Amino acid sequence: MKNLSEKIDLKNLSSSELTEFLASFGKERYRSVQMLRWLYQQGVQSFDEMTNLSQRFRQELNQTSFISALHPVRAEKARDGTRKFLFELEDGNRIESVLIPDKARLTLCVSTQVGCALGCRFCLTGKRGWKRNLNVSEILNQILGVKKMLPEKTSITNVVLMGMGEPLANYMNTLKATALMVHPDAFRLSSRRITLSTVGLLPELEEVLKEKPPFRLAISLNASNDETRTYLMPINLRSPLSKVLAVCKKFPLQRRIRITFEYVLLEGMNDSPQDAKRLLRILKGIPSKVNLIPLNEAPDIPFKRPSEQRVKRFQEILMEGGLTAIVRNSKGQEISAACGQLQAKVGIGDELQ
Ligand code: SAH
Ligand code: SF4
Repeated sequence: MKNLSEKIDLKNLSSSELTEFLASFGKERYRSVQMLRWLYQQGVQSFDEMTNLSQRFRQELNQTSFISALHPVRAEKARDGTRKFLFELEDGNRIESVLIPDKARLTLCVSTQVGCALGCRFCLTGKRGWKRNLNVSEILNQILGVKKMLPEKTSITNVVLMGMGEPLANYMNTLKATALMVHPDAFRLSSRRITLSTVGLLPELEEVLKEKPPFRLAISLNASNDETRTYLMPINLRSPLSKVLAVCKKFPLQRRIRITFEYVLLEGMNDSPQDAKRLLRILKGIPSKVNLIPLNEAPDIPFKRPSEQRVKRFQEILMEGGLTAIVRNSKGQEISAACGQLQAKVGIGDELQ
């Protein structure tokens, strides 16, 4: 029998790869439909639970493949109901996912990398650097692992790829994972209920927009000109504002996509009325909506959150110019679960038993 490292983690396979894998045992296509349902709808953790497969086939599967899972080693809850889950991966690395209840919605914010290489100056995840990309199963197992912690009938209704990491820097795995999120035999989520947040990495952004992607796009602008953006987000040298917006202008109209632009407001840095007017100007012609995120402060971050009044003024200028602009106050701040606060730190003795 093969050891675990030689076996295939079935959750790393796309639906067509799974069909191919099962065909190598002489199995018909409908077997992969059954398998997807066991893995992602029932969330089984062993082949023995797959009662519609023969004993012999289950043994064959056991010898060649395995079903991976992630279990939270710590869970915290904030007063506003936001919950943060810490997962330990096979190699000891740690990642976090955040569950955000909001009226009829239950949104899970998942990570796509261990850390992040892009080093935005206002983000704690960026401060801690990059370790590695998550594989497909590690992205999907965050959803399954959190679901297991919820009462039986409770469903996660929305997924946002906005946790640790830059999703488009882990392009292949992120796209494979989102394809399974919307697959009718796997997670069955509507693509309108999945949001991928990116700095607008090029050329990956262009690739994503060539076909209609299985998610809504949110692009982190955070500045209205290249100079400020490069200072705040060094990746702007490689994926500059003007090029990112040019790509946004080229495709979405044809595909009827409305893009959300995220804009973290930093006092005295990007929050002036002139910035708001410039933002209006550069977004002209792109079907868009703006999420204004007043900075979540942290001792290691050298910026301040603007006053409520200043945030309001910024929002008003955008709205007067005809843009939809919403102020998003991140949830879960006292447990460091808000945007830009994920670092997967663990104190001694606070793991779940
Ligand atoms: N890497 C991706 C997705 C993860 S970050 C991206 O940057 O889009 C998710 C969002 O959190 C981004 O819009 C980012 O600008 C925002 N963010 C990062 N640090 C923050 C902070 N300290 N306060 C508020 N928002 C922050
Ligand atoms: Fe990475 Fe996004 Fe944080 Fe920038 S804001 S460092 S891209 S996680």
